[in-house]
Amino acid sequence: MTASVKIDITEDTILVGIAAAPGIAISRSHLVNRDRMAVIERRISPAEAAPEIAAFRDAVTRSKAQLIEVKEQAGNKELVDHLYIIDTHLLILDDDMLIGETIALIRDELINAEGALNRVLRKLRRVFDQISDEYLRERRSDIDSIGDRLIRNLLGETRESLADIDEHAIVVAHDLSPADTVQIDRTKVVGFVTDVGGRTSHTAILARSLRIPAVVGLETVTSLVPDGTPMIIDGSTGTVILKPSPETFRDYLQKKQRYDYLESELLQFRSLPAETMDGYSLALRGNIDFVDEIPAAREQGAQGIGLFRTEFLYMTGDGPPSEDEQFKAYRAAVERMAPYPVTIRTLDVGGDKFVPELNLSDEVNPAMGLRAVRFSLKEINLFRTQLRAILRAAVFGPVRIMFPMISGVAEVRACKQFLERERQELIDAGLPCGEHVEVGIMIETPAAVLIADHLAKEVDFFSVGTNDLIQYCLAIDRGNEHVAYLYEPMHPAVLQALQRICSAARNAGIEVGMCGEMAGEDIYALVLIALGFSELSMNPANISRVKRVMRKINHSDVKQILDRLMSLATADEVAAALGKEMHQLYPQLFAEPSL
Ligand code: PEP
Ligand code: MG
Repeated sequence: MTASVKIDITEDTILVGIAAAPGIAISRSHLVNRDRMAVIERRISPAEAAPEIAAFRDAVTRSKAQLIEVKEQAGNKELVDHLYIIDTHLLILDDDMLIGETIALIRDELINAEGALNRVLRKLRRVFDQISDEYLRERRSDIDSIGDRLIRNLLGETRESLADIDEHAIVVAHDLSPADTVQIDRTKVVGFVTDVGGRTSHTAILARSLRIPAVVGLETVTSLVPDGTPMIIDGSTGTVILKPSPETFRDYLQKKQRYDYLESELLQFRSLPAETMDGYSLALRGNIDFVDEIPAAREQGAQGIGLFRTEFLYMTGDGPPSEDEQFKAYRAAVERMAPYPVTIRTLDVGGDKFVPELNLSDEVNPAMGLRAVRFSLKEINLFRTQLRAILRAAVFGPVRIMFPMISGVAEVRACKQFLERERQELIDAGLPCGEHVEVGIMIETPAAVLIADHLAKEVDFFSVGTNDLIQYCLAIDRGNEHVAYLYEPMHPAVLQALQRICSAARNAGIEVGMCGEMAGEDIYALVLIALGFSELSMNPANISRVKRVMRKINHSDVKQILDRLMSLATADEVAAALGKEMHQLYPQLFAEPSL
């Protein structure tokens, strides 16, 4: 329970980590010791092998029993959706790579149980470390937490349960396992800080669901902060302040009160309709990467899924997912979201989305290379498998299919032909498939903007992917921090592109949505409504924020405001003029622009 203090902490010592869950927490630190147990590997005699294997099996059984108990005790409604994490850990405890290989090492190489387990864990960690995708790399922490539990059980060590914390505290830990997080008492633990982890670690995901401020990835916080240190964490900026001075304390207390007030106000928007003061409504939908995110999206008030990024299905197995594996995932999504639609985007790999299993070739300029629909139209068999799985899932509820990175009409026609061919083959084979699947495209390239009127005649809907559209329109690599300052959604070129897309959709009588990050930023809601978007799809956590702004706008006023913004020459001028409008509308939410 103690950590060595390596430096003297002075008043207002600031540490900066990764902002994992927003909000401000002010309390004292409670250090939780999750240090790895020291494991000694030793040779055993053949006679010792059987008792060592029995001890290992016993540790597995005890670990399972502990996890089941954690699951049963987590009655909290907000946690129920996340208990799949514990289920994942239970599955790992049945995994042959972990359990079978450890037993084989004890038996064949005559190594003691904890030594053998440690070797297998090291091997698994190396595999995870080589994965480039952030989400999947973070799953290494699942292996760590299972490994720690098994080793503690093998060595007969007990660990402090977070359920036992009976004072108001900010938990300071090297890492927290999902089982730890699920056990916390929210009335006591007001924040987390950890040495390791990223925005997509389970601890971060859970902290956001529980609405507990958290800062992760602080690297050495456990060795800097003694138990009981007064501290402040700002989970929106990733800042941690140790031993706050009276002035800092007052400042943050005010910030906290303001944040908490705005958050509590936000809750009431979940169940309210997404409409303007004069009754103009549009669909607010969720972006997801995994089916498991749907319950939380529904709870946030998502009226459907506007973007199901399917590439993650391709990152988890040994190779590309089979038709049946995909069908099961899509069907589960459709059933969980019904009667609202699920928009399934076909595979969008390449560029910054690298999938090791697909052996993508090295390209000098991957953002403009063989990515998204270009890849699908080359790897026809992968594409056809995905189309069949989507068509079959459409039997179970409303499905829309969406093709990414379209740059010409020929691509759309080719995609539609493949879709028709697969539908016909399914019918010929007597397999049920959805009768009406709406077909849409993502508008992400300047070419698609310029020929939007031609494209609109080919499809049922457009969805604007601003993350890519802005990158290609302004020639700014979306992942390059050196040019990030030029990534401006309010650039007049972007506004004109959006206007052109919306007017082409309107003229053709098709729906037009947006699913890039811009759709979820409440400051832009007024502009997007004025442009005529009929759907905004976003990280579900932003739905209430956008709704809050929408419900204060008069649709009859927005056209005039947009006309004014469209007449301005620079991104700064547009942003300042919009900032002024938004400040008038919501002085507490949007600061008055200084320009
Ligand atoms: C986009 O480009 O805006 C988009 C939603 O797609 P992705 O971020 O997956 O490229
Ligand atoms: Mg994109």
